[in-house]
Amino acid sequence: MEKIILTGLRPTGNLHLGHYFGACQNYIKLQEEHDFYLEIADVQALTDNFNNPEKVYKNVFEITKDLLSIGLDPNKVNFFIQSKIPEIAELTVFFSNLVTVARLERNPTVKNEINQKKELFGTNGESITYGFLGYPVSQAADITVFGGSLIPVGEDQLPLLEQCREIVRKFNSIYGEILIEPQQVLSNTTRVKGLDGNEKMGKSLGNAIYLIDAEETITKKIMGAVTDPQKIKKDDIANPNVCMVYYYHNLVNNKEDIKKVCSECKSGERGCVQCKKELIKAMNDFLKPIQEKRKYYDSHPEIVTDILIKGTKEAQKKATAKMEEIKKAMKIDYFE
Ligand code: SF4
Repeated sequence: MEKIILTGLRPTGNLHLGHYFGACQNYIKLQEEHDFYLEIADVQALTDNFNNPEKVYKNVFEITKDLLSIGLDPNKVNFFIQSKIPEIAELTVFFSNLVTVARLERNPTVKNEINQKKELFGTNGESITYGFLGYPVSQAADITVFGGSLIPVGEDQLPLLEQCREIVRKFNSIYGEILIEPQQVLSNTTRVKGLDGNEKMGKSLGNAIYLIDAEETITKKIMGAVTDPQKIKKDDIANPNVCMVYYYHNLVNNKEDIKKVCSECKSGERGCVQCKKELIKAMNDFLKPIQEKRKYYDSHPEIVTDILIKGTKEAQKKATAKMEEIKKAMKIDYFE
């Protein structure tokens, strides 16, 4: 049986280093190995941005350009827009009979996200919408309607995948074994910390370096990054392991320079300003090829649209075929 990789990204902002090292770098490898469907999840983005459709619309194209710029090949990856595949919404309705509200409320990923969005959903989640609570159900439909069997997910997304598996098992036990139970793709991805030392880099946390950041922006951000608070003077001995500058050297610099930063920091031979300047250079060198490619897509928006149209058509074919099978199994295929 063919293995299909299915993954999705919410178009709510540009990609940052957290996305790159935490997930997207892995996609570059996976696109060589399997049939790859990449969903630009606009419907899911609307669950907590329903009052800001312009933001979601703009970011559908922004995020696609980011993904193309890091090296995803549109000949190997089907980029498609979630809302353009109505079968996903249809299957979400059918799946919603197979999961209880209590089970969704217990989902650790959903609980965590509700906690982070108090402004929108209230201090205790009292204003949670039906749509947001149900997004794991929609995600299960995203995966199964394309026969997605391999799903690249981070640790924090595992409860969503488990929720999907439960729905698949329930569906198959009632209507017959026609849905694939998806598996997690294990990878060597890294969860990237923020410039402020927070365990997570995120747009809402304001601690991210974006792939499109200009040199001046990167300089400003890195100059403000958290270092070892014990180091006051240039020749103070410090601990690089508690310093975000060293942390980012490890992500984007070469082995030799990383070793030098570490030993000079520990021996007090290195000042933080110089260390930050070296990181700024390494960061810009790392981002340069991505940004060069990005310029090409910025000046050719019609190519980006064509890639989305082509990928969405491919995805549509798969979803139509699977939906026929699903409706037949559910005895709702009354007539042509
Ligand atoms: Fe961090 Fe570099 Fe300063 Fe050491 S010298 S504390 S690694 S910025």
